[in-house]
Formats: sequence, C-alpha cells, structure tokens
Amino acid sequence: MSSLGLYLHIPFCQAICSYCNFNRGLLDSGLKQRYVSALETEIRRAPGGPADTIFFGGGTPSLLEAGEVARLIQACRETFDVAPGAEVTLETNPETVTADRLTAFREAGVTRISFGVQSFDADELARLGRIHSAARAKEAIVAAQGLGFASVSFDLMLWLPAQTRRTWRHTVDQALALAPDHLSLYLLELYPNAPLKEAMARAGWSQTPDDDAADMYLEALALLERAGLAQYEISNVARPGHRSRHNVKYWQAGQWFGFGCGAHGTVAGVRWKNVPGTDEYVARVSAGADVAADRQVQSPQAQLEEALFMGLRMTDGIDRAAFADRFGLDPWVRYEAELTPFLDVAPEGGKVWHRDGRFGLTREGMLVSNSVLEIFV
Ligand code: SF4
Repeated sequence: MSSLGLYLHIPFCQAICSYCNFNRGLLDSGLKQRYVSALETEIRRAPGGPADTIFFGGGTPSLLEAGEVARLIQACRETFDVAPGAEVTLETNPETVTADRLTAFREAGVTRISFGVQSFDADELARLGRIHSAARAKEAIVAAQGLGFASVSFDLMLWLPAQTRRTWRHTVDQALALAPDHLSLYLLELYPNAPLKEAMARAGWSQTPDDDAADMYLEALALLERAGLAQYEISNVARPGHRSRHNVKYWQAGQWFGFGCGAHGTVAGVRWKNVPGTDEYVARVSAGADVAADRQVQSPQAQLEEALFMGLRMTDGIDRAAFADRFGLDPWVRYEAELTPFLDVAPEGGKVWHRDGRFGLTREGMLVSNSVLEIFV
C-alpha cells in the first residue's frame, strides 16, 4: 500500500466569510470539545496502515488548542504507522495565532503552517468578510518563519470584487517580500447564495474581466517564478522541496483517510464521505454508528478518468509508463487523436505538451483546462 494521507476536518470559525461555501460553522466551545473527542474516536477506529502526511483542514483548525492538536496527532500515530518525517499541516487564520500559540503548535508536532491570507489590501479583506488585517497576517507569517516549521505557506485570492491590477500587484509584491516556501493562488468562486454576491450587487462591485484576470494570474506566476517559487500545480507554487506532500496525494491518485464531518476519503478504490453536520457526526460517533453518509466503489474507468483529470493539474503532467503500469493502458495512445489538436507546436503554441514519455497542460492550457479535460469524459 502506498503511504496514506490523513485529513482531519475542523469545522469551526470565529466569523463566517462572505464568500465561504465550505463545511463550517461558528465556534461553540462546548461543541468543539465534544467534536475533538469524536474525531479522536473515529481515528482510533480506523484500520491503520502506513501514513506520511496529516492535514488539519477547515474551517479554522488553528482555533484548536495545541493540546487538542497534540492529542489528535497522537491518535493518528497510535492507529497508523506514521513515518518519522511525516508532514503535519495546520491551516491557520492569522487572527487566531500569536507567537506563543504558534510555538505551542510547533511543539505539538505541526511541521507545516498554511495561512489563509487571501489579500494584503484592507478593502479587499473587508469585502471578503475576513477579520484579520494585512499587518496581522504579515506578523503571523514572520513569527511562524522564525519558529522552525519545515514550510510556511499562505493562500492568496484572485478575481476578487473590485480588485484591480494595481491592488493584485501590491498583494503579490507583499507576498514576495515575505519570501514564503509555498503559495496557493485561488480564483474566487461565487456560489449562488453567497452573501458576497448580494453585497456586490448593492455596492456595484464587479470582478475583473476574464482576460485581465488571466493576465494577472500569468504575471503573478512569472514574478513568483523569478523569485524561486516554481508552479507545480494549477494553483500552487513552491520553492524546491516545499510542495505540499499531502495535496499531491489528491492530484496523483493517492490514498487518504478523511476524518470529521463532511470529510471524504479514498482507499483501495473505495470512496466515502462523512455526514456533513457537526452535531450529527458527534452523535453518530457516540452511538458507535457509521459516520459515512455515502460510500462507493469506484469503477476502474472512473479511477482512470479521475487520475487523468487530477494528474493534469500538475506541471509534471502524466507519466505514460507509470500510468500504464497502474491502470493498464497508455493514456497518450488512448487519447492521442483527441489531444493532438491541442498540441503545443511552434510558433502558434498550444494547450498540451508531450515529451520524454509524459504529457501535460501548458500554462495557457491550465487557464482553459476544462476545454481540454472534457475529452476524457
Ligand atoms: S475562515 Fe475559511 S472556512 Fe471559515 S468562514 Fe472564512 S473562508 Fe470559510
């Protein structure tokens, strides 16, 4: 069995951001205590196996106390054969931490911090409903960088309401000045009932036109690359040795357990998703009942399609021979007729590259990845 990833969902937040569509709710200390106990119980009921990443995602996992983080890591270590150099990530919101709390998380066994920063522009943060300031985010990042974490990362968002090339460039410049090990650049997705959508209509804020947003993304990638942060996935850049080992499992058809409400896992071709509600999750764990709301055996075709979809998100692309060993067919041979019209040929360029037994999306292809990926379904 390839080494597993362990995902632990922490569904509590101090405030609800105006664009958020994640599985989360406002912090309730009593419920949080019961939830951590339930999470520990769910982990200890798992069958075990070799694991090399643990990822606390949310929600806002940094609302946990360091003792709670240590207790959950301990449960993982006592249930799974967790590798000594395992990557242990804590998603962290800047307003929840001080240097002391970060030190305590480090001592609890966290090796990688990923901050939800989103922007270094005060107006953009306010429109998103974020409760930290740019100064607080910088302070938290600098503090974490001095504490011996193996990697410090943060997230930025593009395509924000009323964001301009100037404010985006300011955010990227501030990010570069902080010299992170890893950065994620996400496009804002506006789900139908997001409060932000109504606020945008009321205030007359709009998103940058698509072409400008594409230029802003490409310009940022070029600047980051020059600073030693190479793109390795559509939305992620890293210095050498700082890719997110946990997230790479999602993109390279790896295996992972998902613990907590709404978490999903995939092991040995079986995919499951836990019940989304926090109270229902705690009640089910207490009653000794199954917490999975849905469990499916993935067909070989579904596994293959997903491996192509996810693998092509990475700049390394798909290794034809490794893929053929695993899925029993060479994907280039199978899809060559459909992929050839997209090939990157001088001088026109293209959306797909193919060399040295691998193929993948060019940067231009990543901008319009859906138009290429739809050939696999
Ligand atoms: S902090 Fe993250 S999970 Fe919580 S409300 Fe904001 S976007 Fe959603």
